[in-house]
Amino acid sequence: MERKKILVTGASRGIGRAIALKFAANGYHLFLNCHTSATQLQEVKRFIDEEYHSPCEIVLGDVGNPEDVAFMFEQIYRSCECLDVLVNNAGISHIGLLMDMENDTWRRIMDTNLSSVFYCCRAAIPPMISRKQGKIINISSMWGTSGASCEAAYSASKAGVNGLTKALAKELAPSNIQVNAIACGVIDTQMNQQLSEMERIELEEEIPAGRYGTAGEIAQVVWDVAHAPGYLTGQVIGVDGGYL
Ligand code: NAP
Repeated sequence: MERKKILVTGASRGIGRAIALKFAANGYHLFLNCHTSATQLQEVKRFIDEEYHSPCEIVLGDVGNPEDVAFMFEQIYRSCECLDVLVNNAGISHIGLLMDMENDTWRRIMDTNLSSVFYCCRAAIPPMISRKQGKIINISSMWGTSGASCEAAYSASKAGVNGLTKALAKELAPSNIQVNAIACGVIDTQMNQQLSEMERIELEEEIPAGRYGTAGEIAQVVWDVAHAPGYLTGQVIGVDGGYL
């Protein structure tokens, strides 16, 4: 039987890496992306080769840059006709007062977190429509729903992802393509490493579950959504330990 194909952006570490391993363990053919940490992504590929023997191709590029995304998809379409699953995971955070933010920082956050979803969806959709089949899963944040102080640009970018998800789900439902987002709470990855031990303890006390989530838990939800009935579409699914 032909293997299903998945692209995971931002797969060199954290949530993206965990998603890659989950789908590799279950026989998918993977296309894995990151921008700057190519050596780390090679390590992920080597691990997958050794542990799971699933086909795994690296497509490097800045997902916030439309030319890079076009080149990534040229490589993907040389290898396969269509993706079964697209996971838009790559993202960056930024903590600081909005009044201090430079134009370039704002643009970089919007390009990486929101425009990237547009560029990747635009490239992935046409063959999905031809086959009347496909799953798009966007990794969003609870801050896109509620807003976080000192993370206004990040919150706005993820609110944009949520809006894009809901609108695109309506546009693609007649073609049997499902679009959903996962609104993650605080997940234990490098993205939160800048917090001090005291800040971490305080944050954990605010989370009803009493702890950070794990990348593996998000990967499990992504797997479940990718294999859910086709009637599940246009949803922003919170996975936040009860925080919101
Ligand atoms: P992470 O550990 O910092 O990993 C981010 C990944 O994205 C890396 O592979 C990084 O690789 C890649 N990336 C960043 N900019 C990129 C670009 N321009 N082009 C291609 N790849 C890029 O972060 P994470 O916690 O796993 O976050 C993954 C996703 O979950 C993000 O969208 C984030 O907003 C979301 N999320 C995380 C949390 C959390 O608490 N951790 C909460 C809510 C939502 P390179 O640096 O090499 O490019």
